[in-house]
Amino acid sequence: MRKSFVAGNWKMNTTAQEALNLARGVAAGLGGVACDVAVCPPFVYLDAVARTLKGGPLAVGGQNMYFEGKGAFTGEISAAMLKDVGCRYVILGHSERRHIFGEQDALINAKVKAALAAGLDPILCVGETLSERDGNQTLGVVERQTREGLQGVAADALPRVTLAYEPVWAIGTGRNATPAQAQEVHAEIRKVLAALYGRNAADAVRIQYGGSVKPENASEILAQPDVDGALVGGAALKADSFLAIVKAAK
Ligand code: PEP
Repeated sequence: MRKSFVAGNWKMNTTAQEALNLARGVAAGLGGVACDVAVCPPFVYLDAVARTLKGGPLAVGGQNMYFEGKGAFTGEISAAMLKDVGCRYVILGHSERRHIFGEQDALINAKVKAALAAGLDPILCVGETLSERDGNQTLGVVERQTREGLQGVAADALPRVTLAYEPVWAIGTGRNATPAQAQEVHAEIRKVLAALYGRNAADAVRIQYGGSVKPENASEILAQPDVDGALVGGAALKADSFLAIVKAAK
């Protein structure tokens, strides 16, 4: 039985004070929640948020990182730095990284391996664009991104990886995949994982859905058999809406 996992991706939002208030507001509402929950603030607020949440059930994650350990990589953040300030997770291959910043599967794969080596648990995002969906390429794109993102990841590290299916056309648009569309792609991702690692290993991996998840649509999507939680953007910026999604997780 997989334990659901809901993560909030704050993207480039909040001031320092807003970040602390939001983190405290989410933490305060987690009583009795059985699933894993994390918040992913901007880099500059990670340290303060992680200190505030230390010892509690609400985990902290980074939104990105670079794969090199250290050195002359101006503007970048390493896995060890995220770990050092108290992160447990890191989001990798988010569609905004892929499509605004041009990140490709090989780079994302290097980041996944560096995160695992540093003791961070990666959330590997995959998902098709609208033109890929319209061109019936969804399953092929998601298969490629999953295979290439996990290239060289050993079977014993797989339980630490979360996949996030995030159709690009549903992120920040208010347009979410239907529960059936989400289930179809999640099942396909699990099939790819089974081909790579075996059925038992695949059955243990959590696959989040992300793309305009809101309190109003969360229950239906999260009830799908292969949907094991959510990666939430806009609705994670208010404690009450994020908590409503957390509470809808099975
Ligand atoms: C995201 O940023 O991963 C995301 C799913 O955003 P939103 O919920 O705003 O669509």
